[in-house]
Amino acid sequence: LREKIRDLEKSFTQKYPPVKFLSEKDRKRILVTGGAGFVGSHLTDKLMMDGHEVTVVDNFFTGRKRNVEHWIGHENFELINHDVVEPLYIEVDQIYHLASPASPPSYMYNPIKTLKTNTIGTLNMLGLAKRVGARLLLASTSEVYGDPEVHPQTEDYWGHVNPIGPRACYDEGKRVAETMCYAYMKQPPDLITENRASHQDGKAPVSGRKSRGTCGAPGSPSSVLQEGVEVRVARIFNTFGPRMHMNDGRVVSNFILQALQGEPLTVYGSGSQTRAFQYVRTSEIYKVGNSALSPAQPSASTLPQKADPRRHIIPSANTGASSAPSSDLVNGLVALMNSNVSSPVNLGNPEEHTILEFAELIKNLVGSGSEIQFLSEAQDDPQKRKPDIKKAKLMLGWEPVVPLEEGLNKAIHYFRKELEYQANNQYI
Ligand code: NAD
Repeated sequence: LREKIRDLEKSFTQKYPPVKFLSEKDRKRILVTGGAGFVGSHLTDKLMMDGHEVTVVDNFFTGRKRNVEHWIGHENFELINHDVVEPLYIEVDQIYHLASPASPPSYMYNPIKTLKTNTIGTLNMLGLAKRVGARLLLASTSEVYGDPEVHPQTEDYWGHVNPIGPRACYDEGKRVAETMCYAYMKQPPDLITENRASHQDGKAPVSGRKSRGTCGAPGSPSSVLQEGVEVRVARIFNTFGPRMHMNDGRVVSNFILQALQGEPLTVYGSGSQTRAFQYVRTSEIYKVGNSALSPAQPSASTLPQKADPRRHIIPSANTGASSAPSSDLVNGLVALMNSNVSSPVNLGNPEEHTILEFAELIKNLVGSGSEIQFLSEAQDDPQKRKPDIKKAKLMLGWEPVVPLEEGLNKAIHYFRKELEYQANNQYI
């Protein structure tokens, strides 16, 4: 009886964010690698709220369970502690491949692991996509342009990367990940089959219908031989927002934390180098840092049921963007995945500012008296960064909509709460 009462209590108290009902025909099985990280957890929220079945795979190197804990126990959600450098056998329709450290301190911490994640990890995910006939979207980066000589950066620019510099493990790792995507897309199926046969278990795949629950292992009935892998490549420019790691080490989080703590805002070099920042996603409805099941007070703009007047993505056959209101990077990723654009697409905010302007703006928004401190320039730090997003506008109908100050205010609110949370829980 006690157990029954507990279950009953649980069913009354356990609340998930609202999830749209999708018929089996429309519901997709979606894998998000790196789904417990900053971008991946917001993407997971959107996909779950849109009614899909989502499997998050993460090794928690920079990600946190807290970012997705509000979904744990939901029948459409699964969280797997797994390193993408090891093969994964699972049955899915789409793969958002985000697993990779993203900020310089985290990718420079273990450059060999960063390289393995972006090379072997991407090969593993492409191999999985090939076996189960899934479409794969690679979260690539503006870093493939290096310290660019073309401004703003268009997708046809080949980049200017130092292959032996401190950032190379990430920049070159992502460049080769892109190369792998297009090799898997273009290579004739019989050659890929041969490679697979010689590298894996030697068995040719057996054609068959996909079915839920099979593991997509080589040679399993779900290994469907087809044309090359369908790939999508998003070149993501600097993104910020709630759930960024406190020790992220990139300029937005550094400045906000320094301003909130009354420390000097550290600018590397003269501060005249430029960056353009996009917001991650507007509709966070769950707080991070509190109980998994405590919904944040939804504001008019965060209510999932209401149409967001600023939303630029209109559901259509082309974009496939669906109902849960969200914007900016996350919507761009979903629109790209569901589009027919297989070449790389820049996703970023073209509003460009100098680092010094950012420092002043954040100081003012926080209301901080912090000084600005100039330190020596970081090696290979790009001098200019600004996406050309004509392609995303034209092909996906996408552009960022959250004004910089509004996004910064939300991020400041989040970091303030995180500092309070750390102080109360001595969380590191
Ligand atoms: P993040 O560090 O918050 O998330 C990355 C996630 O991947 C983390 O949860 C981490 O634990 C996981 N991960 C790392 N290595 C893994 C491995 N070997 N196996 C399984 N999981 C692993 O970073 P983010 O900002 O959310 O970035 C997500 C993706 O977007 C990354 O691929 C990054 O390169 C790309 N990107 C991000 C930005 C940005 O500004 N945030 C810009 C360009 C590209």
